[in-house]
Amino acid sequence: MQWAGASQRDRLCLVSLTRRAEDVEASEVTVMQGSANGQPESARQRGPQLARLPGHPRPRHEALSRFEHLIADMKSRMNPVLWQLLVPAVDTQYRWRVQSECVCIQEVYTQGDHHFPDERQYLDPLIRLPLPPGEIWCPTDHGAPKPYREIVEWIDHEVREFPPDPEENPYEFEDADVWPRIRRTEAKQSALWRVRLTCGHYYEHVHTDVDWRPEHGPKRATEERSDEMRKEFEDIWAGGADAWPREGIERDHVRRMLDQRWPCPSPEQSWSACAHAQQITPYQRVGWLVARAKQSGPGPTQRQRLEAQLRRAEAEAHRLQAQA
Ligand SMILES: [Zn+2]
Ligand SMILES: [Zn+2]
Repeated sequence: MQWAGASQRDRLCLVSLTRRAEDVEASEVTVMQGSANGQPESARQRGPQLARLPGHPRPRHEALSRFEHLIADMKSRMNPVLWQLLVPAVDTQYRWRVQSECVCIQEVYTQGDHHFPDERQYLDPLIRLPLPPGEIWCPTDHGAPKPYREIVEWIDHEVREFPPDPEENPYEFEDADVWPRIRRTEAKQSALWRVRLTCGHYYEHVHTDVDWRPEHGPKRATEERSDEMRKEFEDIWAGGADAWPREGIERDHVRRMLDQRWPCPSPEQSWSACAHAQQITPYQRVGWLVARAKQSGPGPTQRQRLEAQLRRAEAEAHRLQAQA
């Protein structure tokens, strides 16, 4: 299928949506009741984890207003060709309250009342890419450290131009006489790679030279330079656990980089999703987002609705291509 003007991000969303559509049939067959005491056997177990959660859902008019805001935001980020396919209709949305490992509770929606909140994929809101199945983003800052994870997949990249550094020193920590020596005086092009980490999270700010490719492997410092760097860091760390970078995740990362002669690009990255993404634990039904009229017969299945949406979007894409 050709998508007129669809970006790589749109296509990634489509792949995720299509996979979900394929999941629908299996989930309709394997629907189970929530466990008797409402507690999941394992936080990582997929499937229904129905429970009664503390607190109350927000009033319906507030939920509706929030949903409309989310839809407007979603449309503003998306190629209009895809609206018909990817933007959900308000009368198909079913409300849930979902708890995550951190014990926070938030409200989410599913397409209909026969899907469970851990059957859909949620987005990393910072880069608008899907989290692994069963995870949800908790917006609260719990102060969790951001661990470094190895890159397991180099997905794609885009080239960006960066202007020269400003003449005035933008960094408080840098000595005034050092900045003029390290400042870049000319614009530079870099490739920004989107990668997947071992935990399944995406990260999209790995900078490389424009013509670098994953099969080239990282560049490394010479043995001599690597030894000098280790000595420089050890001199700084003689200042104690609070010397930069502080003892813990960041200093351990520097140690690993020194052991590998400072590979560039770095084979491991630290990203917010690794601290904010949480496994979904119990969830509770709230109800339809808008009141529904009684239906006289069985309505179309999720697959039938999706296929109809796909046909409409395909026709729209062909129409736009014909105009081009
Ligand atoms: Zn939380
Ligand atoms: Zn992660």
